Amino acid sequence: MTVLQLYELQQVDTAIDTREKSLAEVRNRLGEDPALAALGRRIQELEKRVKDEALARRPVELEIRGLEERLAVIEARLYGGSITNAKELEAQNEELTYLKEQRSAQEDRLLEFMVTSEETQKEFDVARKTVAEIEERRKRAQPDLTANEEVLHRELERLAEERVAVASELAGSELSMYEALRKSRGGQAVARVERGICEGCRLSLPSTEVQRARTSRGPVHCSSCRRILFVP
Ligand SMILES: [Zn+2]
Repeated sequence: MTVLQLYELQQVDTAIDTREKSLAEVRNRLGEDPALAALGRRIQELEKRVKDEALARRPVELEIRGLEERLAVIEARLYGGSITNAKELEAQNEELTYLKEQRSAQEDRLLEFMVTSEETQKEFDVARKTVAEIEERRKRAQPDLTANEEVLHRELERLAEERVAVASELAGSELSMYEALRKSRGGQAVARVERGICEGCRLSLPSTEVQRARTSRGPVHCSSCRRILFVP
């Protein structure tokens, strides 16, 4: 009976479809992870930024060191007792105050640099940790995925052979009608009828239609979804 063969073909095709979907998912998970690649690029950016920021604050650090050296010289002079002239003493004190202000201003600038650098470093560390975790997870999942891939691949080979055998029993016109329906009906061309309900569209069928589907030699289509009805 043609409908039974069409139904068998539908079952084989459904089995192929689900395995192909699973195989695509498995291969997707085994393949390059877009999130991981994006994180890798972000890490490179952050690594560069860490270096750039260290370079940017270098002149400020040098400036502070220079000011400290100058301050040390003046302080040694002031407190060393070598200056006795009151005017000279006043000038040196003024210089001391000026240099201290300068140092304070530069230290504020350095602090800003440090805060930014810390944030960058923190983001860099978090990204690195996330990458390590994702990679570890992928590594652990790999053996199962690879085994799964092989099983699916073998099953698909077997199903392809089965499909050829089942399809060879059908006439060319039936096959093309089946294929067209499969394409327009989300992969399902043949629908079982269970308790008077078409399992393709879930609608209740008139009993005459079910009866016709059961006894007809040729395919009978569901009056609402047009799928070929199979009454077991
Ligand atoms: Zn239907």
